[in-house]
Amino acid sequence: MAGTTESQSYILLQNGTIITHTPPRNPNDPYTTTILRSHSLLIEGSHIASIAPTISPPSPSTRIIDCTNKLIAPGFIDTHHHLWQTQLKGRHADEMFLDYMATGNAQSGSYTEQDVFWGELGGCMESLDAGVTSWDPFEMDPEYMPKWLFTQLSDLAKAQPFGDGRVRLGFAFDGLFLPKEMVVDLFDKVRDMGVKLITTHYVNSKNPIVNAPSPVTLLASYGLLRPDILFSHANELLPSETALLDQHGGSISTTPNTELQMNFGFPACFRQDAYSHASLGIDCHSCGSADIITQMRLALQSERARYNQAFLDQGKNPKVPNVSAEQAYNLGTILGARAVGMEKEIGSLAVGKLADVVVFDATSPSMICAAEQDPVAAIVLHASVRDVEMVIVDGVFRKEGGKTLPVSVEREVAGLGGGERKVDVGWEGVVKELLKSREGIEEKIAKLDSGKVREGIIGMMHIDESNIVDSL
Ligand SMILES: [Zn+2]
Repeated sequence: MAGTTESQSYILLQNGTIITHTPPRNPNDPYTTTILRSHSLLIEGSHIASIAPTISPPSPSTRIIDCTNKLIAPGFIDTHHHLWQTQLKGRHADEMFLDYMATGNAQSGSYTEQDVFWGELGGCMESLDAGVTSWDPFEMDPEYMPKWLFTQLSDLAKAQPFGDGRVRLGFAFDGLFLPKEMVVDLFDKVRDMGVKLITTHYVNSKNPIVNAPSPVTLLASYGLLRPDILFSHANELLPSETALLDQHGGSISTTPNTELQMNFGFPACFRQDAYSHASLGIDCHSCGSADIITQMRLALQSERARYNQAFLDQGKNPKVPNVSAEQAYNLGTILGARAVGMEKEIGSLAVGKLADVVVFDATSPSMICAAEQDPVAAIVLHASVRDVEMVIVDGVFRKEGGKTLPVSVEREVAGLGGGERKVDVGWEGVVKELLKSREGIEEKIAKLDSGKVREGIIGMMHIDESNIVDSL
């Protein structure tokens, strides 16, 4: 027995304020948060082993961390993120959707394999730095059914598991305009390969510039709508479609930062008929920060503004806000887990779940007093990435003392020459590669005829330019 205990690794987070979730009695009831003050949390290997007022260290080698004056939350969940776009950050501050498609999304063509690697790694590390421990990366090839697609997908499916089983195979697809037989065949194939999640961007006929059939209605009519489908944005989701999601399953990913900027409409996540299917995502960290806290805050306050305006227009004031900070917090944690079909494994702090844990400094200038008063409000409305002191994923430290820790990368994949097969790279090393990679991409972009790229996007997406106007 002693032998087993010695070989197992333990982390004991002692005497912190732990935010837990109480599961609803009925599936349609909301989750509620419970605050456990002066509690401890024990991690055994990759899982949470115990949460109690006091826990004794199970072995002499237990790593004990004093969490007095700290908030302990689950890792945040980001359900839609174009992770490769790190080198494009800062380009899109004053752009609308069509401009972004040309200067952002279409620039995947200016990337080499190594650029993609460093872009993705930079995106992952920015997420980890912010306490985001699960994300749904998104990548799109402008050619919808290239020959390599199935070969690469089946090779990847066979090569599983990745990252100790933590990285799972997903499939991003925006080709729903293809003939029905092709779409049905494709969905059958990727599901047979064991793909866990299929994501598609949601647009419907209400969109002023992209004329496309709604994917929820379309997939339901093809008999393909199931809980493994995640629709990104879904701002103009039709009430008949939330009924379809209730009936067949399927989730939505609201990404407030890009949606509010690019005229997608108000975020859908707080709509009464959509909330139970909703989650939060970053979309493009080339357009804004990659922390889910910011998305919680943008979603919450923009929804309140939308609701309040109707009262204001009639010279009235609502008695109470229509949505709560707790609802926003749940979107970035447990509801995110539900949206990606992992509610039993991640999204809350509970015994038996994976040890994805974020520790906040509750005494920072921004968190002080707020964390004492209301830990959930402190995170949703007061915290920033600065306050994220530690991040643990699968029982492994990824950030400590406010700094992201080095990651192990394969030299060949990363384009690094010589030496051992793998090498540890710290953030400073990532910075060096990202700046070099950004310069190369910048040179390629400068040589492109931007008008032609724009024309290409207009043609490919059947964009109706007549509705793009200077003013109303
Ligand atoms: Zn997207």
